[in-house]
Amino acid sequence: MSDGIQQLKDLQPTKEFFVGIDSDGCVFDSMEIKHKECFTPEFIYHFGMQPVSKYAREAWDFVNLYSKTRGCNRFLALLEVLKQLSERSDVKARNVTPPSLPGLRAWTEKESKLGNQALEEAAKSTQDEDLLKVLEWSNDVNKAVKRVVHGVPPFPGVLESLKKFEPQADMIVCSQTPTEALVREWDEHKIEGYVHMIAGQELGTKAQHLDYAAKGKFDANRCLMIGDAPGDMKAAKANGFLFFPIVPGKEEESWKNLHTEAIDKFFALEYEGAYEAQLIEAFEASLPEFPDWD
Ligand SMILES: [Mg+2]
Repeated sequence: MSDGIQQLKDLQPTKEFFVGIDSDGCVFDSMEIKHKECFTPEFIYHFGMQPVSKYAREAWDFVNLYSKTRGCNRFLALLEVLKQLSERSDVKARNVTPPSLPGLRAWTEKESKLGNQALEEAAKSTQDEDLLKVLEWSNDVNKAVKRVVHGVPPFPGVLESLKKFEPQADMIVCSQTPTEALVREWDEHKIEGYVHMIAGQELGTKAQHLDYAAKGKFDANRCLMIGDAPGDMKAAKANGFLFFPIVPGKEEESWKNLHTEAIDKFFALEYEGAYEAQLIEAFEASLPEFPDWD
């Protein structure tokens, strides 16, 4: 785990530009299948949400797919989903009290690498009931992803963009998915050769990945993060980097725009400013902050 962080820190520029790329929902059209077929069923089962499964599903989808928290870390997502469900009148009417998992909340507040491995270590050393329960859920999600998610190719336009970036930019994958799943997916579709490193949740937050890999090594206006979630943008901006949004629901259009226009602007140092701002505005308008139930 720490070896991976050191590897990121040791990366040395081989080209003039740097690009960080999110994976789920950005490169791969895998968000729907992962959440709907893997995360949600395991969430309902492990946290006793059977009596309110319809609302559990709506909340899971809202937090993870269709709102500003889209793409956030699974453990933070779990806390937010449980909070939304505990406030929802339909859930209260059925006398269901979703667990608040104070042990998990405490862990997320002090741990910077919110991955399965760190969770497993904390659960084993503390024997905290919440952590043990969440670990079981998280492990079952990983098993489900391994079983279910196959043959989901990159969005049209991804390969063309990777090829266009390659001569001038060092690239890394920057994700909150477990690294082993990322490696499997990038390898399955023969695109792992385009990136210098694949950084998953065990190596810290996306902002940390960008910091370790690129900050101070490249000029900030030569560093670009590509992602489909506000968290990707925050990670970019935390480092003073540029951001290119893959707009949820308009992914093909976004990749086409990147390939035919935005990459040229980035390499010409004309991306920063009005051009980036109008892309970000359209992106922000595409995701709501609050659910519309209650
Ligand atoms: Mg994503």
